[in-house]
Amino acid sequence: MSNNSIHTRIAPSPTGVLHIGTARTALVNFLIAKKMNGTFSIRIEDTDKERSKVEFEKNILDGLLWLGLTHDTLVRQSENLKDHIKAIDTLIAHDKAYESREESTKNPGEFVTVVRLRNPGTTITFTDLIRGEITFDTTELEDFVIARSRKDPLYHLAVVVDDHTMGISHVIRGEDHISNTPRQILIQEALGYRRPVYAHLPLILGPDRSKMSKRHGAVSIDSYKHEGYLPEALINYFALLGWHPEDEQEIFTPEELVDTFSIERIQKGGAIFSEEKLRWVNKQHMHRLPDDIFMEKLLPFLPKEVTALPLYSTNQLRKIIPVLKERLETFGDIEKLAAEEDIQYFFATPTYTKEEFLFKGKGSYADVSTHLKQVRELLGHADYTNAATVKESIWNYAEEAGRGTVLWPLRYALSGQKKSADPFTIAAVIGPEETNKRITRALAILSR
Ligand code: GLU
Repeated sequence: MSNNSIHTRIAPSPTGVLHIGTARTALVNFLIAKKMNGTFSIRIEDTDKERSKVEFEKNILDGLLWLGLTHDTLVRQSENLKDHIKAIDTLIAHDKAYESREESTKNPGEFVTVVRLRNPGTTITFTDLIRGEITFDTTELEDFVIARSRKDPLYHLAVVVDDHTMGISHVIRGEDHISNTPRQILIQEALGYRRPVYAHLPLILGPDRSKMSKRHGAVSIDSYKHEGYLPEALINYFALLGWHPEDEQEIFTPEELVDTFSIERIQKGGAIFSEEKLRWVNKQHMHRLPDDIFMEKLLPFLPKEVTALPLYSTNQLRKIIPVLKERLETFGDIEKLAAEEDIQYFFATPTYTKEEFLFKGKGSYADVSTHLKQVRELLGHADYTNAATVKESIWNYAEEAGRGTVLWPLRYALSGQKKSADPFTIAAVIGPEETNKRITRALAILSR
């Protein structure tokens, strides 16, 4: 690897499932690496043996892959123990660190030999790509402990050694790690390592401006997957957290993000997470999907109560995809539509309540019947290619007789619902025979 090559990493601890904070940090690291023709690595920080779990590691790796954040290399911190021990030995050999026999803080009364860094007690200044110059007085850190023993490194030492051996050029991580940076720089300098470039990303905040957590809504990537969000939409939205492109564009494909994204335009202040905005972004990405792909992704979310309906078929479903593209913000929203009985009428002949045929509860059943008969006649000659062609056949009549008084009962006759898609759309989907059948049934109810 050449000295100038860009190498970024995401360093998740496998102590929980993949959440939006880690995914967003991974995204920024991924984008910067791709943009600059560098490499992006994952380092699983699994040195906390009690809290690290293989199932969390799997969840994190699967989640990152699902999001499309593919890595070039994968390492586990625990596998680098030899390097860590070597670094401890080097520091002690050069008198940059020393062993110290002390009473254990964990088990009072027990004595342990920890390793402490000889802190030169200087001020450390580093340039953060987002926050500018940051200076810390390190004297108060004293000779901090870098290893529980010569064979048992602590976190900061492991991070510094691993970043060095992996050739990490840019350490891009959450703002919550800012206070770790001076300690890590002290260790780097003691070891004579080159300092990477730092960038600390603003925190993700809930709508109340406190750090985003479960009480603000879903934080695991799995929950978004299960609600029917598209990975490319999540990626798009995460990129917008604390970052603004130069122009007004808000919807980006992952490839466009690689071209457009830049650390320089990341803000310092916290980024407020808005589920509403995320849903909107998701809808835009759903809209862009070719119908075939849309359908493939929708099918797993389609409730049984819909697929079991008499007129249901994938062909029929395909016809309502334009409608669904307007109405769904996530694939999971289809369950809500079904719960509100706002999709069943495409796949089953509805039942009616006579009073509901009256527009705004006014008028006479006789008038409604007259309009429906007229409309049935007109629809008998209609072109059922699409909603617009259906509309053409009855629009003049509706305008003349009064839109509400004609279209309300027609819509109700076709849907059996107070709220539904417009009658032209329904007619175009169910076709001439079924349309005729529904209006005829409605007329029978009205004449009772
Ligand atoms: N393991 C740390 C975390 O999960 C990341 C440390 C780093 O990026 O330097 O937050």
